[in-house]
Amino acid sequence: MAEKQRMTSPAKPKSPDQSLQDTGGLGGHPRGLTTLFFTEMWERFSYYGMRAILLLFMVKTAAEGGLGYETKKAAAIYGTYTMSVYLLSILGGFIADNFIGARRCVLVGGIIIASGHYAMAFSWQPAFFVGLVLIALGTGLLKPNISTMVGGLYSPTDQRRDAGFSLFYMGINLGAFLAPLVIGYLAQSNSWKVQLVHWGLNPLHSWHWGFAAAGLGMTFGLIFYVLQWHTLSQVGHAPLITKNGARPWGKLALVTLASLVLIAGMEASDRYPAIIYLLFVLQIAAILLFASKPNPESKRIAAILVFFFAAEIFWAIFEQSGSTISLFAENLTRNEIFGRSFPSSWWQSVNSIWVIVLGPIFASLWIKLGPKQPSSPMKFVLGLLFVALSFVLMVPAAKLTAQGKVGPIWLISVFFIQTVGEMLLSPVGLSTMCKLAPQRLLGLVMGIWFLATALGSKLAGALAGEFKSDNADLIATFFWHQALAGGACALALLALVPWVKRLMGGIR
Ligand code: GLN
Repeated sequence: MAEKQRMTSPAKPKSPDQSLQDTGGLGGHPRGLTTLFFTEMWERFSYYGMRAILLLFMVKTAAEGGLGYETKKAAAIYGTYTMSVYLLSILGGFIADNFIGARRCVLVGGIIIASGHYAMAFSWQPAFFVGLVLIALGTGLLKPNISTMVGGLYSPTDQRRDAGFSLFYMGINLGAFLAPLVIGYLAQSNSWKVQLVHWGLNPLHSWHWGFAAAGLGMTFGLIFYVLQWHTLSQVGHAPLITKNGARPWGKLALVTLASLVLIAGMEASDRYPAIIYLLFVLQIAAILLFASKPNPESKRIAAILVFFFAAEIFWAIFEQSGSTISLFAENLTRNEIFGRSFPSSWWQSVNSIWVIVLGPIFASLWIKLGPKQPSSPMKFVLGLLFVALSFVLMVPAAKLTAQGKVGPIWLISVFFIQTVGEMLLSPVGLSTMCKLAPQRLLGLVMGIWFLATALGSKLAGALAGEFKSDNADLIATFFWHQALAGGACALALLALVPWVKRLMGGIR
């Protein structure tokens, strides 16, 4: 009983002083930030490492150790998987809010993720699919809740909060940068295959060594998390059990069902694009509905939904780095640096490198500007503007392809501009969700934030389907139209900034 009470006692509110006292973590931040930084670094290592070889593994023939799927089938599985990973955050957030709290959700989620990767280490097709389902479920439990715990480390008035999220974001990208190098090496390199033969093992199983390495990465993260559990004593507690001891099982069933319907609906949007427009209309209606209610909590939810909309548009452009931009890299760019050629897949690490370079700059900028820094809606405007600008830069690059392949400087610059936008929107978005969400809905709201990535990725996939690499003018128009649409959204949001600030009711 005593254990039960301890488990279910609500998070002790921290006084601003108490949080400011803890400067023992990375860069003068609370010690819990270091724990969450490394746990998330390893989780993202496993996620991005596996993702880097997932599509390749599915399309390679059995003679190459792969599943031998057609590209179309493989791409469909890949799309559904990446969307589900983010979409299931809603369920993960709900479970934290209503059942076991964020701290335990991260632990359970991490164990499920590691099990998923290990399942894929077996060369057996059913295990591959079980693995994908487990990783999607586990990430749904871990991803939103580790993010809300970062927010919980700071008092509402602590100026270090956005800087803390920028640092946390660097951890994400450290993992995302290293993983494709390590896991790609195990899965694809000849030298590793030779090593396997040397040990008397089957070299065709190299892919499964890659998947196992992803599982090992998540295991390192879990070990670190458990060892540093005590640094998180102030955050992510389970909610109180109501007097009659009831948990909202009915609502849980409803949220699960809604998530499955949403996944199915987004899948169907390939055949019925009207679903996308319907979703836009529903989002606008929801914003207006919540904004029209008199209580401050509803108004803050309206603000959250405005941010959601902006983020969705942002990711729809940004997430094309794995599709449109990767095709541009493969077919229309000279992939050479200092006279040496490199594989086009390396472009996938460039965004992470820029985040690692820009992360500390933004973190210190926010600390330096303190209360003078732009408001969160203004940062969102800038984020959208930068991602739109990155596609403006693609216009002359596309035109130049009429004369042959272009130099790498174009994509390096495009990724730079996109990453500036990402730093203004993504870590800031995480931080803003924590500030705006009513305490009891924290996990759910973070889940909604990641839903914007899920929907944006799906939109990105639909847009990328229109890309054709063989006509310079058409490519230029393709990028120009999206730049205009992104720019228009930025301007619309700019016009709404004063209104959104009012909805936020004094929270910056
Ligand atoms: N790259 C970041 C991550 O992996 C952002 C994800 C997102 O919200 N789209 O956490």
